[in-house]
Amino acid sequence: MTVGAVAQINRQAFQHNLRRVRDAAPGSRIMAVIKADGYGHGLERVARALSQGKNSADAFGVARLDEAVYLRERGFTQPVVLLEGFLDEAELLTVTQHQLHIVVHHEYQIDILERSKMRAMVTVWLKVDTGMHRLGIAPEATPRAWQRLNACAIVRPPVRLMTHLACADDREDARTGEQVLLFDTCTQDIEAERSIANSGGILGWPQTRGDWVRPGIMLYGSSPFNNDTGADHGLRSVMTFKARLIAIRPSRKGDAIGYGGDWQCPEDMPVGVIAVGYGDGYPRHAMPGTPVRVSGHNVPLIGRVSMDMICVDLRTHPNAHIGDEVILWGDGLPAETIASHAGTISYHLFCSITQRVRVVDIDGDR
Ligand SMILES: *Cc1c(COP(=O)(O)O)cnc(C)c1O
Repeated sequence: MTVGAVAQINRQAFQHNLRRVRDAAPGSRIMAVIKADGYGHGLERVARALSQGKNSADAFGVARLDEAVYLRERGFTQPVVLLEGFLDEAELLTVTQHQLHIVVHHEYQIDILERSKMRAMVTVWLKVDTGMHRLGIAPEATPRAWQRLNACAIVRPPVRLMTHLACADDREDARTGEQVLLFDTCTQDIEAERSIANSGGILGWPQTRGDWVRPGIMLYGSSPFNNDTGADHGLRSVMTFKARLIAIRPSRKGDAIGYGGDWQCPEDMPVGVIAVGYGDGYPRHAMPGTPVRVSGHNVPLIGRVSMDMICVDLRTHPNAHIGDEVILWGDGLPAETIASHAGTISYHLFCSITQRVRVVDIDGDR
């Protein structure tokens, strides 16, 4: 049996990145976004790493009720915000039982809260749609929705306000400024805590920081922007995805490598085979030329990614040995670089790590 792929998770890097958020938004409280199993890093692991005494997140944000309940069951007592709120009375009951905070983004949720006879107090964030056009109350309907919510017996006043940025991955995009302006305008007569910024807002738009910031990707060490890497913002990568070189083959000029045979050796050359594939979460759409770090040297991917293996061109690294450690992304090779070669984003790579990958915690103060 071949040694499988490993995802190393560096707990110190979480702590470092959380400090980076504090430095970037010193006047704001931090709602650490740990949805989707902590962006693929492991929900409990991430929540622990972000609850370390003084250097702790002030709240957690998750997408699903199950994720929030899981955190409570594992003993986390911090505020946990359900970013998509609740769907019906049954979910609202669970929300109150676990003292979760909810985002209200639609009138149907206000109706349920108004009708509720539950004797509990729920902290509510009212989400305004300022341009994402996915979830949220229309800007002009915001003051009325806010008043209705504050009048609900079950709602703890004053209801907080939030919006979500649609284009913060591009620092040149004028729409972010427009969203902030619209949010400020439609909430100007309301006295309440506010939250706008995701990672892109935190690092790119000082005016979005507000009472609460909601960092996600930057906690995991990646840049939220489409043209740089986490290191450019003083962030450290948390996940290093590793595998092993299991074969080196002397291929001949014209040999077609892998499925479909669409990559052919231009000359006689050494080809390395690595025990990682899309069955582990390596992106199938990674193009030939995607860098792969074999025993400290970046070499190009060749041929198609298969379920359990990838191949690399070892012409520039003739000293590679069978058994050498290979880094797919992480230390020395930003996930953002791999993502751009695969037509995706680092968020997607992290969330794609599969069950069979062994996850290992390390404490490294690099
Ligand atoms: C996912 C999410 C975030 C975090 O976004 P990043 O780009 O990862 O920083 C913040 N707010 C909401 C509502 C989200 O859904």
